Amino acid sequence: MGMTILLIGAGHGHLYTVSKTRQMVELGYRVVVINASRYHYYSGMGPGMLGGMYAPDDIRFDIEKMVHRGGGEFIEDSVMKIDPERRVIYTSGGKIMEFDVLSCNTGSVIQDTIPVDSNNTVYPVKPLVNLYHARSRLEQAKKGLSLHVVVAGGGAAGVEIAANVYGRARTLPIDARVSIVTSGTLLEGFPQKASRKARKWLSKHGIEVHEQTRVAGINDKNVSLAGGRDIPMDICIMATGIVPPEIFSRSGMKTGPDGGLDVNEYLQAQNYPNIFGTGDGIYFSSHPLSKAGVYAVRQGPLLYSNIMAYCRGESLEAFVPQKKYLLIMNLAGYGIAVRGKLVLGGRTWFRIKDSIDRKYIKRFT
Ligand SMILES: Cc1cc2nc3c(=O)[nH]c(=O)nc-3n(C[C@H](O)[C@H](O)[C@H](O)COP(=O)(O)OP(=O)(O)OC[C@H]3O[C@@H](n4cnc5c(N)ncnc54)[C@H](O)[C@@H]3O)c2cc1C
Repeated sequence: MGMTILLIGAGHGHLYTVSKTRQMVELGYRVVVINASRYHYYSGMGPGMLGGMYAPDDIRFDIEKMVHRGGGEFIEDSVMKIDPERRVIYTSGGKIMEFDVLSCNTGSVIQDTIPVDSNNTVYPVKPLVNLYHARSRLEQAKKGLSLHVVVAGGGAAGVEIAANVYGRARTLPIDARVSIVTSGTLLEGFPQKASRKARKWLSKHGIEVHEQTRVAGINDKNVSLAGGRDIPMDICIMATGIVPPEIFSRSGMKTGPDGGLDVNEYLQAQNYPNIFGTGDGIYFSSHPLSKAGVYAVRQGPLLYSNIMAYCRGESLEAFVPQKKYLLIMNLAGYGIAVRGKLVLGGRTWFRIKDSIDRKYIKRFT
């Protein structure tokens, strides 16, 4: 058996490499993929799944099946620590595994800054499958029930989620009130026109927006605000800031300010050329990137070709991030498209998004 290529995490950034498992195996490499779940959910369609536009099967990839079909090994487990010197990883399930080449695509987690004391009313947006659990919760609510759903966070994800909770609830025999609570302004960092369009849509559909309002804590019954006021709620969806998981700092590897694996322009970890990284979990030190799936998706083919080039001792290609990218938010079938300063809105934009997203799913399934 040749070198072992070990992939940790199978998200947007690794999907392309996972789809090349057969090619790698045919070249004599042992390919092992460790992912916390058998499935990878495509985030672009996550809010639509919450809103009832898509079933889980429409938006997810069966990673285990993809890996096995290519002749690789799949392990459903979480990697807790990497020993880059000994070239070994440790999993929470107790596995210890050696590698020659490692690639990390561990995504991001909700920032741990709001104390949460709840068993079954709070749904963080990561992992994405939580959006399906939140939808099921709405669908299982008793006929005629009044529910208050609070979305913590007013970024793109928070806006899409609030809109799609409304979208799902309006088709159910329940009376759902939806609110967004955000510490900054709605869609902060986006052009003002995008915020205006979102506010207009949310207000038209009765969704309350509390801006400049910081959440201090969440329990089973309330979202507690800084300043002492409580907002009673039945379901809270957390779409507050995301950060890379702690695995890299725990492993003593060089990280950026948010704990992401510090990588060079070839997506290689500083000091460890046999360790690669992609997606939300990295700190691209030459040009820090926002946490957007489009970067992870674009890094995919280059990451694969760099892993192969490294294995063969060939030269690697630098990742050059695009300056602007198109983001289309799905507000229950209404699209807000943003590219740089350009902002457009309308149902056509949702249809365009839907068509792009479906093509992406089809490409890998
Ligand atoms: C609701 C929502 C909507 C979004 N919409 C968009 C959009 O329209 N466009 C856009 O560009 N971005 C969007 N984003 C952002 C996008 O989700 C992220 O940027 C993207 O998921 C990052 O991809 P990734 O490959 O880094 O990680 P992910 O796709 O999140 O995959 C990481 C994988 O690694 C696994 N994993 C993590 N840690 C470990 C471990 N230690 N061991 C094993 N496995 C592990 C996880 O289970 C997961 O399967 C959205 C985000 C949210 C929350």
